[in-house]
Amino acid sequence: MVESDSDDPCIRMEDLGKLKGEAMLADPRPMDLPRIERAVREILSAVGEDPDREGLLETPARVARMYAEMFAGLHLDPREHLQKVFTEQYDEVVLVKDISFCSMCEHHLLPFIGHAHLAYVPSGKVLGLSKLARVVEVVARRPQVQERMTEEIAGLLVSELGAKGVAVVVEASHSCMTIRGVRKPGSMCVTSSMKGLFRSNLSTRAEVMQLIYGGRR
Ligand SMILES: [Zn+2]
Repeated sequence: MVESDSDDPCIRMEDLGKLKGEAMLADPRPMDLPRIERAVREILSAVGEDPDREGLLETPARVARMYAEMFAGLHLDPREHLQKVFTEQYDEVVLVKDISFCSMCEHHLLPFIGHAHLAYVPSGKVLGLSKLARVVEVVARRPQVQERMTEEIAGLLVSELGAKGVAVVVEASHSCMTIRGVRKPGSMCVTSSMKGLFRSNLSTRAEVMQLIYGGRR
């Protein structure tokens, strides 16, 4: 079973409340928008800009709302999306590929944008397919590094689904490599995490890689 999901990677503000209502973490820290605004104003002054000129007046508030959106995952629990499972005797690979996401590199606070491919071999329990995309969305919306994000998603699928095997492949382009530093536009970073059957059984692993990359030129 293969499903492709290539929606807009950036969730809209109106969806944010919905996401939050669904799965708030018991985290007492709210997003402190006025504090972000003050900090953005400070950065503008520090780089030599005039934060009071007309074009920049709304910028701190706009950036604060953007950060609230980009980091919404800090206050959400991805496990929430992995609770509703169905009993099903299906023990082949389930793959949802091309789940688009945008996350924020925690070293530069610049976006990295790409796709995640999530596969598992169920052990009597299957998950609604859209839930896999939800998990990616929550984990991506935090200050991240791609390696940890990949491992985190795989770990969640193992612990919450009790799947016989889990494979997570993430590919992304990092703005901190394309627009600054070494400036290598077009470079992609690929990370993977293989658990259970996908780690121990070479042909199962080859099968999932073929399902992910087979159709590509
Ligand atoms: Zn970076």
